[in-house]
Amino acid sequence: MIKHDIVIVGGGLAGLRAALEARRAGVDVAVISKLFPLRSHSCMAQGGLNAALGNHPDSRSDSPEVHAFDTVKGSDYLADQDAVEIMTRDGVEIVYEMERWGCPWSRFDDGSIAQRPFGGQSFPRTCYGADKTGLYLLQTLYEQCVRSEVRFYDEFLVVSLVVRDGRCFGAVAYEVANGAIHAIEARVLLLATGGCGRLFSHTSNSLTSTGFGTALAYLAGVPLKDMEFFQFHPTTLVGHGTTITEGLRGQGAYLFNGAGERFMERYVSNAVMERAPRDIVARAVQTEINSGRGIGGERYVHLDVRHLGEEKLQTMFPGIIEVCQEFRKIDPIREMIPVAPGAHYTMGGIDVNADGETEVDGLYAAGECACVSVHGANRLGGNSLLDTLVFGRRTGRAIVEYLGRARGAPPAAGAADAVRSAEENLAKLVAGSGTEDPTALRRRMNLLMDESVTVYREDGALARTVEGIRDLQERYTRMRPIYGGRRFNYDLIWSLELRGTLLLAEVVAAGARIRKESRGSHYRTDYPERDDASWLKHTLAYFRPEGPEFRGKPVTITKWSPQERRY
Ligand SMILES: Cc1cc2nc3c(=O)[nH]c(=O)nc-3n(C[C@H](O)[C@H](O)[C@H](O)COP(=O)(O)OP(=O)(O)OC[C@H]3O[C@@H](n4cnc5c(N)ncnc54)[C@H](O)[C@@H]3O)c2cc1C
Repeated sequence: MIKHDIVIVGGGLAGLRAALEARRAGVDVAVISKLFPLRSHSCMAQGGLNAALGNHPDSRSDSPEVHAFDTVKGSDYLADQDAVEIMTRDGVEIVYEMERWGCPWSRFDDGSIAQRPFGGQSFPRTCYGADKTGLYLLQTLYEQCVRSEVRFYDEFLVVSLVVRDGRCFGAVAYEVANGAIHAIEARVLLLATGGCGRLFSHTSNSLTSTGFGTALAYLAGVPLKDMEFFQFHPTTLVGHGTTITEGLRGQGAYLFNGAGERFMERYVSNAVMERAPRDIVARAVQTEINSGRGIGGERYVHLDVRHLGEEKLQTMFPGIIEVCQEFRKIDPIREMIPVAPGAHYTMGGIDVNADGETEVDGLYAAGECACVSVHGANRLGGNSLLDTLVFGRRTGRAIVEYLGRARGAPPAAGAADAVRSAEENLAKLVAGSGTEDPTALRRRMNLLMDESVTVYREDGALARTVEGIRDLQERYTRMRPIYGGRRFNYDLIWSLELRGTLLLAEVVAAGARIRKESRGSHYRTDYPERDDASWLKHTLAYFRPEGPEFRGKPVTITKWSPQERRY
């Protein structure tokens, strides 16, 4: 039995920031992660983190309030404005805190933390460390966690939560190295398990971004919020999926179609062009491709960065040069980069308030798996790293306060039952009652999602996908015997996680079907207008065996009443 006051599931930025906050308050904290923490998807973040420091020569009049307005407008007015104000206010301090812990931010000549422009910003405010910002932040936090003696359980996969009568008592974990099953007792469990880009095949997300943690909360009775809003990054590398950072468009990179036109002028004002927010640029690129104006009529366009010059590219974007050379054998200093939209960011997630609390007592969530909501219908680039750190820290604090209020440790209720049922679940997979292959099921799910729940959506295709996913869930119960070895058995792990991913696919597709309007990243060709009268609300999805039950939840509006969104 593993027993700690706080158990945090996930060693990415949100999990580590929360762990550090609670540990520094003297509480017993453990981080359980299916990956070695530094391999979490956070390490892939390139472009940077937004905060109104006002260091850039063009951003002297910037403020957290302007940042909040940009975020609310970017969200197409679906974000909760009180939460956005917290995020942009705390963001400034968060950056300096990371600096004091040793994060190697890039700097201006005067020594201040450098900032660059990103999409949807009134002023340049994205702080960065070359194009390896996520890696630098993660490394910095990991060092601080080790120094503060946070306990780590690396390569432990949480397979179920122990929830009874609306209270969470812990979880059950599978140790990847030897297949052992562990009961985990905790007074508070925090999920920081990241996004679910792997619902799709063309995605920037790591193979491990399956959304399994989100599915565990859903199965435990916690509603998922706004899952239909999925961000498609407009410029992912064709044939590979990794992002070609928005920082390049911020610096002035051009997008060209097959006719050699800078096509963004058709979609936004000349002052904005390639610096429009992601949903708008992704739709523009997709429209060009769908109209046969891709490069050579193919399904991609070109990102041209050559005029930025070798020196700037080498110093600010060394990782991009490496990725292009490694995966496409092209040199962006001399050649244009083939790009297309790819699934990138899960705007929705586990429904939490600004303190990370869920509907289940003792169960919290933070980071990309959670939905506060600060991104609404469309996240601005650079706001997600900010979200992980601000709400990671805030949730860590809230949990410490909660522990101060809650008396005594909870009884270890249900642990033995939960372990038994996890073991039975694995045994069932190993025994296999049929002939279905998990890889084939996953590919089919990806295909269905790629075809219908993408940049452009419409009822017929969404209906077929919902039905198709239900069919895959049924086929999942008739899978071939899965290899039963106990050491590093990824056949077993991926088969297990697939159940959760299929549940999320259903919520995303069914949610996209019922939201009959277009807002932010969710564009319905059959309902092309935003409809505030009926749809200025969050959607909550509750798990039911027969399929998700959807309910509405009001959006919090503080200062900015919804307006038409123009750039
Ligand atoms: C390619 C790419 C580039 C990006 N660039 C930027 C950027 O420039 N700026 C920006 O603001 N945002 C960016 N983002 C988004 C941002 O990086 C992520 O939203 C953020 O890092 C997510 O952090 P997290 O801590 O929530 O989750 P992750 O970093 O995804 O970590 C999830 C953790 O959960 C663990 N885990 C998951 N399930 C389980 C389980 N069942 N049991 C045990 N452990 C589990 C994993 O081991 C991992 O440690 C980018 C994303 C991608 C994919």
